[in-house]
Amino acid sequence: MSSVSLSGVSLAYPGGQLGLADVDFTVRDGEFVALVGPSGSGKTTLLRTVAGFVRPTAGCVSIADSVVADPHRSLEPERRGLGMVFQQHAVWPHWSVGRNIEYPLKRAGIAKPERVKRVAEALELVGLAGYALRNPATLSGGQRQRVAIARAIVARPRVLLLDEALSALDEPLRDRLRLELRELTRELGLTVLHVTHDRAEALAVADRIVVLDGGRIQQVGAPAALLAEPSSAFVASFIADATVLTGTTDDMGFVSHESGLSVPAAALSAPGGRVSLPTGATDIAILPHAVRVVPDAEGTGRVVSSLFGRDGDDLVVDWNGVRIRSRVPGARCAAGTLVRLEVEQALIYPSSDARGSSPALTAGRSTVGA
Ligand code: ADP
Ligand code: MG
Repeated sequence: MSSVSLSGVSLAYPGGQLGLADVDFTVRDGEFVALVGPSGSGKTTLLRTVAGFVRPTAGCVSIADSVVADPHRSLEPERRGLGMVFQQHAVWPHWSVGRNIEYPLKRAGIAKPERVKRVAEALELVGLAGYALRNPATLSGGQRQRVAIARAIVARPRVLLLDEALSALDEPLRDRLRLELRELTRELGLTVLHVTHDRAEALAVADRIVVLDGGRIQQVGAPAALLAEPSSAFVASFIADATVLTGTTDDMGFVSHESGLSVPAAALSAPGGRVSLPTGATDIAILPHAVRVVPDAEGTGRVVSSLFGRDGDDLVVDWNGVRIRSRVPGARCAAGTLVRLEVEQALIYPSSDARGSSPALTAGRSTVGA
């Protein structure tokens, strides 16, 4: 068993900054979990807490059912059975590839012949057989990152922690390494916690995704479930580029405060199949595929951005000052076109103001920090 559990974990930095708040979560044995969230949401803090570089101020961390950290004690990182890969400074430039990879084995006191054998195996696993004597400076960025992965797995860790491990690489290399990493970790049966700000990457590789914001878990779920049933308007906007509007809902439907955009009651649905819709102060999340943009010389909307997409243009429509995303298969529309909008479906949530949650929740929020 090599599950990783966080139980009621909170972490405040010495300066008082909130790192994590009441995080409860288990990465199951052999599971690949992606950790996503805006910049500053606590992703790195969570990983460093599991690794043992910082200690929780409340709660505890367990690996394979034994407690490795709580506010009073903390097992050293090198005794936690972890492999780690970070975005940068991953490989020591003055050491050969082989020496880099051998290092964790040396530290563990493993004898030379076994070390040589294991380094060769690890190189083989990451597709760099025969590279042991190479100088890292002569490798490409992708190859160097493979060296870092080889070094992280050479001591046969139970758990692999990745912090933006692929983020510095360019497509299409990143895409390939992503697939290889997934295959490799499955083959080795590793439990993986993979931090990324790339939502497409998280959706592509993870068994489950954890969405963090403000140091708190917002939702945990399989990629398909997260896309279909975001538990809040924030998650819908972060994961699926949904447009979030605040307004009022009654029997007739929803009316947005800022823009006057209305959505008929028939198009409103509550995630989780709840039958009764919230009324009064509400937020709605409109997924891009559910907004049809119809050219109309009398329309209130104007297309302010049109990016070509394989299956349809990625459109941003200005509607009385609010930006609304649309991405409908087959739809093409040039910037500048006057339009009306047909919202076919919107997810509805009780107002976040009423719940006093994230101030970052604003209409049209669609960019994601690194
Ligand atoms: P992410 O990796 O999601 O971008 P971090 O875990 O790095 O987020 O940061 C979470 C919060 O903790 C941020 O508000 C950040 O400013 C703060 N923080 C991170 N590291 C430190 C530190 N060493 N000292 C004080 N505050 C920190
Ligand atoms: Mg980070």
